[in-house]
Amino acid sequence: MKIYEALENKSIRDGILRTVRNLSYQVDKNLQKHPYLVEYAEEVRNAKKEIIANFDFWIEKAMGILQSKGVEVFYANDANEAIKVVKEIVGSKKIVVKAKSMVSEEIDLRKYLERMGNEVWETDLGELIIQLKKEKPMHSVLPALHYSEAQVAEILKKIGINGRNAEELAEGVRDFMRKKFMSANVGISGCNAFSVDSGRIFLIENEGNIRLATSLPRKYIALVGIEKILQNDRLALKSVLLQSAFFGTFPPTYININEKIEQQEMFVIFLDNGRKSTEFKEQLLCIRCGRCQLECPIFQNFGNIWGGSAYGGPMGIIWTAITEKKSELCFLSTLCGKCREICPMKIDIPEMIRELRRSIIMRK
Ligand code: SF4
Repeated sequence: MKIYEALENKSIRDGILRTVRNLSYQVDKNLQKHPYLVEYAEEVRNAKKEIIANFDFWIEKAMGILQSKGVEVFYANDANEAIKVVKEIVGSKKIVVKAKSMVSEEIDLRKYLERMGNEVWETDLGELIIQLKKEKPMHSVLPALHYSEAQVAEILKKIGINGRNAEELAEGVRDFMRKKFMSANVGISGCNAFSVDSGRIFLIENEGNIRLATSLPRKYIALVGIEKILQNDRLALKSVLLQSAFFGTFPPTYININEKIEQQEMFVIFLDNGRKSTEFKEQLLCIRCGRCQLECPIFQNFGNIWGGSAYGGPMGIIWTAITEKKSELCFLSTLCGKCREICPMKIDIPEMIRELRRSIIMRK
């Protein structure tokens, strides 16, 4: 039913096509101007394959380096375990500022923290809009791409922000967020890449909110999907540069490299949630650039409605099968193969969708 509603929703299609027009040619330009990115992609792909083949070894190493630096480290087998750990660290009646994180969407973290009486704020503008609309992100990098300037102005009125144009609205959000950053007890982020050598968390962003959300509060929690682990800083940096280049914005405005700092308690939670045991190991190579979503003809029509509770689009179909064990919507794919062609990690999503279909048919 939702699928039919999505077809009626013109703003989803307009937003996606607007983004495709703005960004797709940028990816080609990035690759022409910086041809070494293709080599980086091959290097990161090979490095990730080694990590995935020996997860236990690398996870243990990652946890060890963090512990040696005074970081409290946890391993969560599933969403419930991760939520339990975060709830214990945060407690109740706190102000929590969050950086945009698909892994936190995957475990629906905000809902659980709010239920405990905490005030939780998404600090990325797009994610804040999604929070106010009580929706899931439309795209992994641009969560609110389907809203026009006028719609955003209307949505932001809910928290008392008024503005006649994008600049005034952005200024209003900056003022609003500054107060939250200054009074926040806890900051939460995801992780774009984790370096085992140094125990550092790499995060890219364009707004500057992540550095405030992760450095100002006295407690900082990083949620790390285990597939984000890389051997060293050099590979982690290459991975985040690729993520930005293949999305279309390169170089990223900010690269944050977070580690334990004095006067801040730091907690890192490594999340499995189906990753280690999945038969779709190839998807774990994903750097979540979101390009396959934008280029996909089905995503261009249905947006993130085509997917699970967090992830959508071609990569989202497989991520949903891994993390939610749900996959019925795989039958909507045209298997055109464009996602495989444009993927920096050369992930064969169509073949995995075929496998999903086979397993569903065999079950019935
Ligand atoms: S599957 Fe490939 S193109 Fe899609 S988000 Fe992951 S890395 Fe990017």
